[in-house]
Amino acid sequence: MIYDVAVVGAGACGLTAAIHLNPKKIILFDSKKGAKKLSITGNNICNVTNKLGLENFIEHYKPNGNFLRDAFKLFFVNDTIKFLQSLGIQTTLDNTRVILKNKTSKEMSSIILQIAKDKTTFRPNERIIDIRKEGDLFILKTQNHIYISKIVLLACGGKSFKHTGTDGTCYDIAKKLGHTIVKPTPFEVPFCSKNTENLQGISLYNKEITLKINNKKKTITGDIIFTHFGISGPAVLELSENDFEQAILKMNLIGDKEAFENNLMSYKGKVKNLIKRYIPQRLADNIMRTDKYVKELSKKEINSIIDTLINFSFTVKKCSFDKAFVTKGGISTKEIDPKTMESKIVKNLFFCGELIDIQGSIGGFNLQAAFSTGFLAAYEINKKFRKNRKAFADK
Ligand SMILES: Cc1cc2nc3c(=O)[nH]c(=O)nc-3n(C[C@H](O)[C@H](O)[C@H](O)COP(=O)(O)OP(=O)(O)OC[C@H]3O[C@@H](n4cnc5c(N)ncnc54)[C@H](O)[C@@H]3O)c2cc1C
Repeated sequence: MIYDVAVVGAGACGLTAAIHLNPKKIILFDSKKGAKKLSITGNNICNVTNKLGLENFIEHYKPNGNFLRDAFKLFFVNDTIKFLQSLGIQTTLDNTRVILKNKTSKEMSSIILQIAKDKTTFRPNERIIDIRKEGDLFILKTQNHIYISKIVLLACGGKSFKHTGTDGTCYDIAKKLGHTIVKPTPFEVPFCSKNTENLQGISLYNKEITLKINNKKKTITGDIIFTHFGISGPAVLELSENDFEQAILKMNLIGDKEAFENNLMSYKGKVKNLIKRYIPQRLADNIMRTDKYVKELSKKEINSIIDTLINFSFTVKKCSFDKAFVTKGGISTKEIDPKTMESKIVKNLFFCGELIDIQGSIGGFNLQAAFSTGFLAAYEINKKFRKNRKAFADK
C-alpha cells in the first residue's frame, strides 16, 4: 500500500495536521502511544496559547519569529480557541495566557488523539528510524516494517523529556535527507545546583531574582521552587532563555532594604520571627541560625543578616534535556519555506513544530507555534493534492 501522507509524530503539531489533512490514506506514527507531551503540559492546566497581538507574539520567538508570520496569518490564537471549543474544550484567561477551563491536559490530549486516530491509520509504538526518497516516493523504515508514502510530514518534536517519545531521531533523519541542524540545546530548563536538597519543596512568590552571568545581570520578579536537584519555577524557566555555562542566581528575599531595616529596628521579638513574615518558616529556620532578639544584635550582625537575605545566592548550571521543557535549535528555518512548511531541499517533505529551529518563551507560545505550523503544513498538502490530482493519483 502506498500512503498519501505519512505523519511522523503524534504530538501537538502532528495531530493538528492529521486532523486537518484531506487525502484519504494518511498514516500517523508515534514512537510512544501518542500525545504524551501534550498530556503533561502546563501541570495539567495546559497553557494553549496567549492573547498578545501578532507583533508582540512574534517577539517571543527570538531570533526566528518572522518565520512563523505566514503560519500565524493562517491559523492563530482565535483559531486555536475555536478549534478546542469545537471539541468541547473550553479555555479561560490568566492574564494574557489562555489556559484550559473545563478539561485537564490529559483529557484534552486524549480527545485530540482520538479524532486523529479515527481519521488515520495510527501506528503507536512505531518509531521511524530512517527515511529515504526513491523517485517520487518516500520509504519509511521502523524496527520491523517498511512503509511507502507520497508525502512525509516530520512532526517529531525536540529532544527534551525523552520519555515522552522525543529522542531526537528525526534530526538524524532530516540530516540524511540533506537538511542542516542548528545544534539542539535545552531551553526553558530548571537550574541544577548543589546544596538545595534540604530546601526541597520550598516555594517563593513574587521575589526579585537576578541571574549574574560574568559581568552581565538580568533581573526579573517572579516565583521559584526549590527541588532536590536545584531550582525551578516560572522565573527560573524565563531566565534559562539566556545563554550561559555557569552563573549565579541571586534572590532578594526581603524586597526594599530600607523598609526591612526600619521594620527590623522597631521589632521587639526575635529576628527569626520577623524573617518568617517574609519567607516560609523552613527557609527562615535554614538561613537564620541565631535565636537572638533584635535588640541583642550588634550593627555588624544586623548588616550581615540583611546581606544574607538580599543576596541569597546559588551557583547554577542549566539542567540537561531530561528536565528541559523545550529544545532550542533544530531544522534550519533557512531550508523550509515559511509559506508552506515544505522543505526547500526535498520536494514533498514537510516539517512542523518544535523540530524546527523555533522556540518560544514560556506562556503558550510553543504550543501555538506547533498548532499553527501543523495546520499550515496540512493546508498546503491539501492544496498540493487538489492542484495535482494526476501526479498524486494511485498508479
Ligand atoms: C512538562 C512540559 C510542559 C509544557 N507545557 C507547555 C504549556 O503549557 N504551553 C506551551 O505552549 N508549551 C508547553 N510545553 C512545550 C510544548 O509541549 C511543546 O513545545 C509542544 O508539545 C511541541 O509540539 P510538537 O508537536 O512539535 O512535538 P511533541 O508534542 O513533542 O510531539 C512529538 C511526537 O513525535 C513522536 N516522535 C518523535 N520521534 C519519533 C520517531 N522517530 N518516530 C515516530 N514518532 C516520533 C514523539 O513520540 C512525540 O509524541 C511543555 C513541555 C513540557 C515538557
